[in-house]
Amino acid sequence: MNYQRFFEEAIDQIHAERRYRVFADLERIVGKFPRAIWRSNGKAEEITVWCSNDYLGMGQHPDVVAAMQKAAGNMGTGAGGTRNISGNNHPLVELEHELADLHGKEAGLVFTSGFVSNEAAISTIAKLLPNCLILSDELNHASMIEGVRRSGAEKKVFRHNDVGHLESLLQAAGRERAKLIVFESVYSMDGDIAPIAEIADLAEKYNAMTYIDEVHAVGMYGPRGGGITEREGLAHRIDIIEGTLAKAFGTLGGYITGTRSVVDAVRSYAPGFIFTTALPPAIAAATTASIRHLKNSQAERDAQQCQVTHTKQVLADAGLPVMESATHIVPILVGDPELCKMASDRLLGVHGIYIQPINYPTVPRGTERLRITPTPFHSNALVAELKEALVETWNALGIPYRTEGHTEVPKSERIVSLLVPQSGG
Ligand SMILES: *Cc1c(COP(=O)(O)O)cnc(C)c1O
Repeated sequence: MNYQRFFEEAIDQIHAERRYRVFADLERIVGKFPRAIWRSNGKAEEITVWCSNDYLGMGQHPDVVAAMQKAAGNMGTGAGGTRNISGNNHPLVELEHELADLHGKEAGLVFTSGFVSNEAAISTIAKLLPNCLILSDELNHASMIEGVRRSGAEKKVFRHNDVGHLESLLQAAGRERAKLIVFESVYSMDGDIAPIAEIADLAEKYNAMTYIDEVHAVGMYGPRGGGITEREGLAHRIDIIEGTLAKAFGTLGGYITGTRSVVDAVRSYAPGFIFTTALPPAIAAATTASIRHLKNSQAERDAQQCQVTHTKQVLADAGLPVMESATHIVPILVGDPELCKMASDRLLGVHGIYIQPINYPTVPRGTERLRITPTPFHSNALVAELKEALVETWNALGIPYRTEGHTEVPKSERIVSLLVPQSGG
């Protein structure tokens, strides 16, 4: 048995499918967001990042950086162990209160990442419920799919955002059976939003529990940054609201919020919570500073929405195939994996603009795209530069422009996601 051979072949397979990924070597610069230093072939140059999930630039906010430095200075770097062994570090207790308050829930529980929070919470909740049926949106994130799998519960996948399909599945299961509906508020690759009110109505009608991933909405939507559920006044109608601390809040970690009993059950039963070291106090303190800032400040959200609208307009006016999106996510359709990779390489190498190509399996084949995320720090001048660079790239590589109206991805293409876990984010 030649073990190395197997790994080489596994990599060759990805090369053959032309989806081998290379990560750019980047160094962000505090005070100059979204600029970063890019190192390649022994050279270092400054570039502009257009695909960061640090959506509001909170990762460099002076209050957040100061809170992290202060806590590290006072309490050191690591947490010193799992919470079972080392107890709660105080900043984590404060953070969980902050999160419960953000969503108007009784309790919150923090995990080491958003991925872990979904995997641990969904699997634990569905495992505890007897004969639970999970109803899962077909475009759910890989971490949710992992949670569904690990639960061992029966699952039915409903067509993306299709409440008619969801209702037929609920009806078939009947009111008596335990049911958990898992879905996202903002879907991160298309930027569309779930019909949350209708899903909550169905959950009520058929007596199902609801679990929403607000990872791409917390901090950015709602008057206090409580997400789409806050914006639409629906937080109280959803049982478990999950989020990340690593995107708009700019640090690291994930969480769930819900009733005291659900959260306590996950705390007490989930291996992904119990058997791993807690978040360091400095990260918890920085996150609390970030959440508190965004609860009180609307400026970042307004500026983000303003630059998003401007970017969509400028790129669409140039004839670029901007895909329809109701949110801060601006996908530009390329429709071919090779071209998508070449476009990304050219933008970086020739124009000093970093946009990661989004290829299968993150999105269905034929819908390969560049996913642009304007922030409050992407000025009109940077938007103008982006447009010029995209147009030059589109011309140089012969990528199709928009034909007419907006660019919509054919619904049938999305079915691929039933077969392959998403790896977006
Ligand atoms: C990024 C992402 C996660 C995972 O969050 P992390 O904190 O990065 O682990 C979960 N759900 C969705 C929809 C995501 O995009």
